[in-house]
Amino acid sequence: MTEEKMRFEAEVSRLLDIVVHSLYSNKDIFLRELISNASDACDKLRYEAIAKPDLLAGDADFKVRLLTDNVRNVLTIADNGIGMNKEDLVENLGTIANSGTAKFLDAVSKSDNAKDVDLIGQFGVGFYSAFMVANKVEVVSRKAGDDQAWKWSSDGKGEYTIAEAEMEGRGTQITLHLTDDNKEFTDEHRLRHIVKTYSDHIGIPVVLMKGDGDETLNEASALWTRPKSEITEEQYKEFYKHTSHAFDDPWKTIHYQAEGAIEYTGLLYLPTMRPFDLYDPQRTGHLKLYVRKVFITEGANELLPPWLRFVSGVVDSQDLPLNVSREMLQDHPLLTKIKNGLTKKVLSELETAAKKDTEGYETFWENFGSVVKEGLYEDQTNRDRILKLARFRSTHGDGWTTLADYVERMKDGQKAIYYISGEDIDALKRSPQLEGFAAKGIEVLLLTDPVDEFWMPSVGQFDGKDFKSVTRGGADLNDIKSDDKDDAKDEKKDDAANEASVSALIAAIKVALGSGVKDVRESDRLTSSACCLIADEMGMDLRMERLMKQHNR
Ligand code: ADP
Ligand code: MG
Repeated sequence: MTEEKMRFEAEVSRLLDIVVHSLYSNKDIFLRELISNASDACDKLRYEAIAKPDLLAGDADFKVRLLTDNVRNVLTIADNGIGMNKEDLVENLGTIANSGTAKFLDAVSKSDNAKDVDLIGQFGVGFYSAFMVANKVEVVSRKAGDDQAWKWSSDGKGEYTIAEAEMEGRGTQITLHLTDDNKEFTDEHRLRHIVKTYSDHIGIPVVLMKGDGDETLNEASALWTRPKSEITEEQYKEFYKHTSHAFDDPWKTIHYQAEGAIEYTGLLYLPTMRPFDLYDPQRTGHLKLYVRKVFITEGANELLPPWLRFVSGVVDSQDLPLNVSREMLQDHPLLTKIKNGLTKKVLSELETAAKKDTEGYETFWENFGSVVKEGLYEDQTNRDRILKLARFRSTHGDGWTTLADYVERMKDGQKAIYYISGEDIDALKRSPQLEGFAAKGIEVLLLTDPVDEFWMPSVGQFDGKDFKSVTRGGADLNDIKSDDKDDAKDEKKDDAANEASVSALIAAIKVALGSGVKDVRESDRLTSSACCLIADEMGMDLRMERLMKQHNR
């Protein structure tokens, strides 16, 4: 039989190198990864079989089987899922499709910092984790609908081989030749424990094949279909890691049943840590859509608006037709209703957290606030609720403030909500533009997210008060009463006395700067600095102008 030798893509070799010199302190998770892939493969076939029932070839009883051989130190994980043909094997087990993994490699290779090693926790290395415990891995696979099976084999050192193989029925068998120090993974107790810990939530049976009768090791019912009271926190966490490809713990777990006009089950997670690829345009979210327990699709914008793209989990609809194609989903009216329902649910969960768990909420906001704020211009319907959820840095203390609290603290005669924006909070605090405001005790919001430039113009107001940039022309401080009234009177007197000489000075400066500036004006807003730059009342905010320049270059 002919055997083809192939080289791993360079990134795979690098990844394997990291995996083998195990950065994972917890080797058990290789089994979780392989069982998770097996379960995904069954999900995929179940979906394909809706349109092509023949693919099932009479075997609709999806299962993952574990076989051990403690004489040869071999562990086999077998499934009857969709299987892989030759091209699939080359594509899936020889390259890195996941853009996140490639990014991770870049991050790790650029630094030897021990802290970055922790980073790996964020990145699932999936199939390749098999090489943490095995020095030889064989994958025999036959794709549903094909007659020919293929065998992929590698010692994880740069090359793999592919050859024709024999296999009864469809699916994938992964055989791990365990290294001497990993013999324990043929031990039944060990496997039972690992499956219970990491894979209990898997919706299909994980069966340990034993001489004296097979044993199903997991609960084997999809987690979200079980009653809340029967699910432990640990199980919720493991399911989060499985569906979200995440390695942190969820900050919030929202499991509920929507009843009435539309019926669905939602199991939603809000993460603790910010996913590294949150701003990657190619990122697909990790919210999975099921229709009556059949997996349909993952990560589509149809389920949640982009400003909630960090939410992961599962939505299982009772009402959508099973034969709904992924393409048809786009404007399915039922899905729009589900999307609105999910959005409202997440919003109310955030509102509760903001009230009851201020510290947790502020951490959430630190991680995801810049994404949530996209909703301020993209989601008119929910704008007001998002504005109330928004938190800001300001010249009032070091913490976060709400807009409502800002309004509470507004001075007599103050009509606008003042803000200044820039890249760096400390630089902003030192801005000369703030001096006049500081002297009168007027609070100014400090905005450092690029997204602020986009929602600010479209939102315009909060609670009937305009947002106003302090770098704009007319921020007239005279109408606003300062904390110390005598001070203000003194200023007026001085102004009158100096009026003539100030006019002369301004004229001289105008001549000196020429067309470099539009105007030179006397200002109330400075107390210790001699001058500052401001934008025209009608013109662009200074930071916006800078951002635009950067983009046009
Ligand atoms: P991920 O699961 O995140 O896609 P993995 O490294 O775990 O990444 O797996 C890579 C790919 O290999 C999978 O996306 C899938 O296409 C394929 N694959 C892995 N295991 C199986 C399996 N048991 N059956 C079918 N395909 C599989
Ligand atoms: Mg995987």
